[in-house]
Amino acid sequence: MPRRLVQYSRNEPCYFCGTAPPSTNEHAPPKMLFKDVDCEGITVPSCATHNTGKNGDDAAFVLALCQATTLWQERYGKKLPESTQSAVERIVAGVRRPKQVTKRRFLTDPPEGLDEHNEHIHMDARVPAWIKQLSAALIWSALGGYTHLIDWDRAEVWSPVYHSGSTARPTAQALGDFEGIARFEELVNRQHWHEGWTEEQGYPHTIYQFRICLSDEQLRGLPLTIIKHTFFTWGTWYAFFCGSWRTRKSLQEFLDADPR
Ligand SMILES: [Zn+2]
Repeated sequence: MPRRLVQYSRNEPCYFCGTAPPSTNEHAPPKMLFKDVDCEGITVPSCATHNTGKNGDDAAFVLALCQATTLWQERYGKKLPESTQSAVERIVAGVRRPKQVTKRRFLTDPPEGLDEHNEHIHMDARVPAWIKQLSAALIWSALGGYTHLIDWDRAEVWSPVYHSGSTARPTAQALGDFEGIARFEELVNRQHWHEGWTEEQGYPHTIYQFRICLSDEQLRGLPLTIIKHTFFTWGTWYAFFCGSWRTRKSLQEFLDADPR
């Protein structure tokens, strides 16, 4: 059976909360991430509250991500693919009035020689909500409509490169945190992952990629699903959520269907 990807319709309820139409068009992920790139994105119907583009949240997240990408390369001496670099430059150049991204101290007591590296990009607290909404939009396109059977309020967002605390921490604590992060990420990545879906001319993977895991784990008796979002090949965010068993079956059928 061929796979059918559903796209935006004005007459469909909001992808996230089910608010009745008319809806507006929301791009998932946001169009600004693919500035001047020829690709076909996923679009979903949205209410006013859950349209992250219209709320200005897209610009805040994408810009912080661009700056973090530059900082990450400098700090670790990494070289990202040429197409990733040029995408970051195009996005930053295209922003008319860039909001200054805040840099904060990460360690209270940086070891000698590390002081100059002791800063991180501060992203505001809406990042987890933004990732949750992006995940919900992708799921909407697979299920073909809104479902109240996925409890997005109880979904969890986690990233090895994002720390929600805004205050600096002692080095010893940070080392412990990193150890825990590495262990947890390894555990998550050992699960079985499916490639995400796109339209025929999909997103370039050097800019954005997502994978999905229909985990055998259960929470409160419901099957756990994980979406892994990767931005610019390095910035990874995971969304953990539970849906009903019927939703699980629909997702499984969608993934089993022929992509083309
Ligand atoms: Zn909504």
